[in-house]
Amino acid sequence: MNIEPKTAGLYIHVPFCKTKCPYCDFYSITDLSLIPSWLDALCKEIDLYQDIFSEFGSLFIGGGTPSLLDGNTLDHLIKTIRAHWSFDSNIESTIELNPDDVTGEKLRLYRTLGINRLSLGIQSFNDSELIFLKRRHTSEGARKALRLIRKAGFKNFSLDLIYGLPGQTEAGWLTTLKYALSYEPTHLSCYQLTVEKNTPFGLLKAEGTLTPLNEKTEEMLFLTTSQFLEAQGFIHYEISNFARSDNYICRHNMKYWRHIPYLGLGPGAHSFSNGQRWWNYRSLEQYCVSFTEGANPVEDLEILTPEQVRLEMIYLGLRTKEGVSLSRVEDTILASTAFADMKKGGLIKVDKGRIVPTRKGFLMADRLPLILSD
Ligand code: SF4
Repeated sequence: MNIEPKTAGLYIHVPFCKTKCPYCDFYSITDLSLIPSWLDALCKEIDLYQDIFSEFGSLFIGGGTPSLLDGNTLDHLIKTIRAHWSFDSNIESTIELNPDDVTGEKLRLYRTLGINRLSLGIQSFNDSELIFLKRRHTSEGARKALRLIRKAGFKNFSLDLIYGLPGQTEAGWLTTLKYALSYEPTHLSCYQLTVEKNTPFGLLKAEGTLTPLNEKTEEMLFLTTSQFLEAQGFIHYEISNFARSDNYICRHNMKYWRHIPYLGLGPGAHSFSNGQRWWNYRSLEQYCVSFTEGANPVEDLEILTPEQVRLEMIYLGLRTKEGVSLSRVEDTILASTAFADMKKGGLIKVDKGRIVPTRKGFLMADRLPLILSD
């Protein structure tokens, strides 16, 4: 993997969705009348950081559902950002889209505003799965959006897909993957359905009306995804992420995994710089009120010790194909039987001075760091 320059990343959180999906635990609200208050507060937050950050190498407008923003709102937001900071000439600028919101007019606006990467929340090409996930688009809606994206000349676009749905078979999942590839995306994010406690799906699970797939089937689907996409030429560069080539690895998200500074603006957004991590109030109301009270929207801040940074580097590095430098791991661990067993068991390999997780190792991404940082 090519190492990117260490220019900071800028993330904007758009906390609005038309409807809520029952599996989602991201912060978002459905009252779209609050968009002007959010924009107003966001512009004030941009002011706060004008002198702290100078240049960004990536912009990621995520949510929520950023494609709900109308042209004037997005135009105002991007112009405000550009009036405060400069952008790397090679900037990666991404916006997340719901297929239902995609129109030729919006796509033209995105191009005019310098957005050069789209991330489309397709989730599935199977209508019964989309109904189960309570998505507001249909598979035909997804196909229409993809036709428009290609017609508008966007070459760099990513598709979000979800697998591991109750009752899903390997054949069914492969059908969705093949459909996705027929549109020649440059990137795929394939997320395994996780049933979080405080979501409608979590409640259904607790009352016994939703039974997630068993662990063995989930593992099989993970391995199938990785094998299938790698056979199609994709690089499996992070547990859930695949790029058609090095050029299409999501540069913004790589900053999170490489401890490169990033600034997150909007309710609930997280930031990291100079060994400090801070995050905003999650509720839009509290976020906006903090400005009227002349304060700032930061809920809390954590100063990481060098040891915490080292452990995070191990934890985050093992989520990616880049792995972690041998120099980050204690000599006693490198000489231990547990480390030798991980290599023998095919979970990791040592390559060019780095410990790199294998496909099988990705399956144990949460457990490997425990062994390497013990
Ligand atoms: S559209 Fe996305 S952010 Fe909004 S509720 Fe659904 S999954 Fe969550």
